[in-house]
Amino acid sequence: MRRYNERRRILVTGGAGFLGSHLIDRLLERGDEVVCADNLFTGTKRNIEHLLAHPRFEFLRHDVTFPLYIEVDEIYNLACPASPVHYQHDPVQTTKTSVHGAINMLGLAKRLRARIFQASTSEVYGDPTVHPQTEDYWGNVNPIGPRSCYDEGKRCAETLFFDYHRQLALDIRVARIFNTYGPRMHPNDGRVVSNFIVQALRGEDLTLYGTGEQTRSFCYVDDLVEAFLRFMDLPAGEDGAPGFPGPLNLGNPGEFTMRQLAETVLRLTGSRSRIVHRPAPADDPMQRQPDITRARERLGGWEPKVGLEDGLQQTIAYFDALLST
Ligand code: NAD
Ligand code: UDP
Ligand code: UDP
Repeated sequence: MRRYNERRRILVTGGAGFLGSHLIDRLLERGDEVVCADNLFTGTKRNIEHLLAHPRFEFLRHDVTFPLYIEVDEIYNLACPASPVHYQHDPVQTTKTSVHGAINMLGLAKRLRARIFQASTSEVYGDPTVHPQTEDYWGNVNPIGPRSCYDEGKRCAETLFFDYHRQLALDIRVARIFNTYGPRMHPNDGRVVSNFIVQALRGEDLTLYGTGEQTRSFCYVDDLVEAFLRFMDLPAGEDGAPGFPGPLNLGNPGEFTMRQLAETVLRLTGSRSRIVHRPAPADDPMQRQPDITRARERLGGWEPKVGLEDGLQQTIAYFDALLST
């Protein structure tokens, strides 16, 4: 791989967000140079505040729907609002971010012959009729509903990644990320883990949507970032041919109903909040659980290590500190 100096220089788009900021911490820890490109739509400077003076870190306020001409060795493309509340706030911009963002980052990767990682999502499976979801399942997605800007945007991004791979031999790594949680989630982003914890800590009612019997499988952020690095570091093929492109499901297969999650959060916070029901959002998937057989095989026995209660404790501690500042 070509290097711009003796260190790897890595671009992380969406690096001021929840997952991106944890990824950058790990990249800097292992000695890489990092350029973070983010328009701060859902990300915040607070997530990268501790890095601003770091000699190997650089922040660019940049929107990935516009071209970006810089020199790097590798790209992690994470820029995109991820919570339903945020991505439905400006759905046209969400599709543009996924699709134009992918085109620009793939164009950059093509010019540089750089390896490029795409943060795709379990939402490409929609409301799945196959359970648990394997990578060869094509999904059950509504193309015209309120979630479509995100789901179809991410599906189109996958199409672009695989076409640049086939047509131009670009070395791509497409990860389908399942629900992930941890410190630095946005307190108001409306995702279930942050909502329940913030509500419990404030003594407000926990808002359980629909029956509460729908399921999700929650992965702690450190386990996920470890998988990102292992996936991206899989070697290229013979004579510099692209390595394994994925798609690869990444997540924790432990599956819980939203009612179980609400009860667990109440127990761990010792909160006296009540659980109240709210209508289910449109097209809310009823069940979700990753089949991670392929990730285990490909990523040298990678396995999520942090159980839900341990991860929730750390996340509760984060929000507790945040809310008291
Ligand atoms: P996040 O909202 O915390 O981070 C997204 C970041 O992208 C933010 O910093 C935001 O400001 C930035 N961004 C948004 N639009 C942009 C644009 N046009 N140009 C530049 N930056 C832009 O969300 P997250 O949970 O950290 O998600 C990161 C990525 O992982 C997203 O692509 C998301 O779709 C994907 N993902 C996350 C999860 C999860 O459970 N956390 C699950 C599946 C997929
Ligand atoms: N691009 C970019 N940075 C680069 C190279 C390309 O942002 O270093 C953008 C460019 O604006 C273009 C997109 O990536 O719109 C796709 O580039 P590609 O070369 O694949 O397509 P083309 O320019 O031939 O349409
Ligand atoms: N949910 C809930 N209460 C909330 C927020 C979400 O019951 O305050 C439910 C939501 O309906 C969905 C699940 O929790 O069934 C996960 O929602 P989230 O927005 O976190 O992620 P996604 O739907 O994208 O998996």
